[in-house]
Amino acid sequence: MSALLHDRVTRAAELRPDETAVVMRDEQLTYGAVEQRSNQLARQLIDHGVRSGDRVCLLQPKAPPAIVSMLATLKAGAVYVPIDIASPAARVEKIVAAADPCLLLASGEASQLLSQLHVDVGVVSVAGAVEGAQSGPADTDAYDAGRLPTISAPGDPAHILFTSGSTGAPKGVVITHAMVGAFLDWALPYFGQRPGDRISGHPPLHFDLSTFDIYGTLSSGAALYLVPGDLLLPRQLASFIRDAQLTQWFSVPSTFAYMARGDAVSEGDFPSLRRIIWCGEVLPPAVLAYWMRRVPQCTYTNLYGPTEATIASSYYTVPAIPRDEKAAIPIGTPCGGEDIHVLDESFDHAPPGEIGELYIEGDGLSPGYWRDEEKTREVFITDPRTGRRMYRTGDLGRRDEQGLLHFVGRADSQIKSRGYRIELGEIETAVTSVAGVAECAVVAVPSEDFGGTAICCAWASRPGVELDPRTLRGSLSQALPSYMLPSRWLELDELPKNANGKIDRPNLRQKFVAGSSDE
Ligand code: AMP
Repeated sequence: MSALLHDRVTRAAELRPDETAVVMRDEQLTYGAVEQRSNQLARQLIDHGVRSGDRVCLLQPKAPPAIVSMLATLKAGAVYVPIDIASPAARVEKIVAAADPCLLLASGEASQLLSQLHVDVGVVSVAGAVEGAQSGPADTDAYDAGRLPTISAPGDPAHILFTSGSTGAPKGVVITHAMVGAFLDWALPYFGQRPGDRISGHPPLHFDLSTFDIYGTLSSGAALYLVPGDLLLPRQLASFIRDAQLTQWFSVPSTFAYMARGDAVSEGDFPSLRRIIWCGEVLPPAVLAYWMRRVPQCTYTNLYGPTEATIASSYYTVPAIPRDEKAAIPIGTPCGGEDIHVLDESFDHAPPGEIGELYIEGDGLSPGYWRDEEKTREVFITDPRTGRRMYRTGDLGRRDEQGLLHFVGRADSQIKSRGYRIELGEIETAVTSVAGVAECAVVAVPSEDFGGTAICCAWASRPGVELDPRTLRGSLSQALPSYMLPSRWLELDELPKNANGKIDRPNLRQKFVAGSSDE
């Protein structure tokens, strides 16, 4: 099978041009339409000067045209950068500046955001009216819809995904065709995706997990059902699975937990569903038991892995309903082409049962962070024992007596909330830059809400300055997306320090656990 992602989709399209490829509400595209439109748009991009290796930023909501844009960019030999259009303009500007694109592909929904962006890059409109666009969908239709010659090689970057960065600026993980291809070569036979499958597209398109939804579905001839971003309530999500008659539901544990808490799943629900997959966070065993009792015909698989190693690096298919609701679900064994080591500080293997840091090696590893050699060198390291390249995950884990891997926590201040990967340092940088803040610290504590984690901010104001949570939140919302905004606040005269003069974070966490509630 060709290792180029768009070629995988073309092959599926050649076999079944009239079958449904992508669906969102009443908008549907067949494989043939996806193929033709992406070919036309690719030619339009080339006409606009897009060349091999150039970046194209996508300012589009999750909908069929965004999938067409991704494929078109790849066919033009370029690299797409999906952007969260719900993020504030200041953050989007940072990402666009870092990506250094030669073109933005935008749809009408991004018009307001575009009007606030100070970037000197041409815009092509792909859906709806976009003010100032160089050309639009009507122009696209004029291009030849036939297949383009191959421009890229499997080791070339296909997309760059920007995730939260601890120093305040989002960092871009470079993902190649071959990295995604390696995961698909393991995952498609393992999960058995095939034509006739109806597969969810739940995570946003700037999430690593959506890569599996898109290319896993479209290279296996199945239909991708994009879940509209405004379907948020547990019962709405359950109706979506039911009405679309999905055969596979892949999401983050927060969603499974939220649906369980809302008791949105009834006994014998979702009769078409065959596979349930989650990734990105710990799924509480009680939540898994809830789902397995109500939807017993499904297989249930836990995928584990960071964006830096593409989609997932290990898996565990649960053999039976968990009896012990305190025993965490293993992250299992490495996916094909990957290896995971539990190492101590001297890079020696931790004995079974002992906690070490998880290091990943294999075909899924990224070449590194976009234009950031220093960060790349820090975490993509050479194993001193074998000379092989490894990614230092920052995750703590252990191997049990059966050889199964378990996730234990983080070695740093990266957290997950609602499935979003967040560096608390990025929030701290934003709070510190609010005028009048003398010092601040952001910590996370477990919570009962949808995210499963509450982001808590303690701050001290400069003398004579009065700041309250509402003002701080207002300023921060200009810099950070809503999922990164703290929900608990605490003003102190001075932040507690430990003997080394560093902020005493355990002490602060205690104060938040004992004290405030969500705003
Ligand atoms: P992301 O790059 O957004 O995919 O986030 C990667 C991080 O999410 C990992 O380094 C882990 O900390 C966490 N993670 C991913 N999958 C799992 C899982 N199945 N169980 C627990 N944590 C996970």
